[in-house]
Amino acid sequence: MTKAIVIGDGPAGLSAALFLAKNGVETTVFGQDNTAMHYAELHNYLGIPVIGGTEFQEIARRQVRDKGATLLSGEATAVHKDGETFRVTAADGNTHEADYVVIAEGKSARLAKALGLAMNEDGVTVDRNYRAGIDGLYVVGRATRTGRSQAIISAGQGGTAAIDILSRLKGADVRDFDEPANE
Ligand SMILES: Cc1cc2nc3c(=O)[nH]c(=O)nc-3n(C[C@H](O)[C@H](O)[C@H](O)COP(=O)(O)OP(=O)(O)OC[C@H]3O[C@@H](n4cnc5c(N)ncnc54)[C@H](O)[C@@H]3O)c2cc1C
Repeated sequence: MTKAIVIGDGPAGLSAALFLAKNGVETTVFGQDNTAMHYAELHNYLGIPVIGGTEFQEIARRQVRDKGATLLSGEATAVHKDGETFRVTAADGNTHEADYVVIAEGKSARLAKALGLAMNEDGVTVDRNYRAGIDGLYVVGRATRTGRSQAIISAGQGGTAAIDILSRLKGADVRDFDEPANE
């Protein structure tokens, strides 16, 4: 089974994890539930007229868990790639392996910088699918547009990266479309 590790549990990371887990990728999220969303009240998230950021996060975390992702409480301290395999070191010293890594660490971009990823005036340099210059590695969310961060944009970026991973696995474009069941 393909394994993905998502580092960061704000809207960007949880959105990536939702799409990946929902589509059969074994997905582990490292997070500290320390997102700026806890200071926000959203009036600009399309489809939700108003919601507190903390409530949004609670719903999102539950939704991601319900689709089968594992949410680990703790910091990922380092990312390395050995051959085709990523190794993510956790603060407890354990190492976790994955085929794909999505970094969604918010504005700090600490891991992205430690990996030596290219930076520009907005943040980490990524392509339109949020590939970040190392095969299988993606950077999404605030780290890519530090000064113009919005929750719905971070969530969209996470979804875009996940769809790119799913499309690579399938070898064709993936559309994660659902329809209501027929009565
Ligand atoms: C006061 C305030 C009000 C706001 N109001 C709005 C608003 O009304 N509308 C709106 O759209 N946006 C608003 N925002 C912005 C919104 O909160 C951000 O756009 C959004 O949180 C960015 O999401 P993200 O997933 O990219 O990053 P973040 O939400 O920053 O999430 C990153 C997460 O990753 C975790 N993390 C980082 N590094 C690691 C690591 N190494 N290991 C494990 N976990 C890690 C962090 O602890 C954090 O939980 C507001 C922000 C603030 C501060």
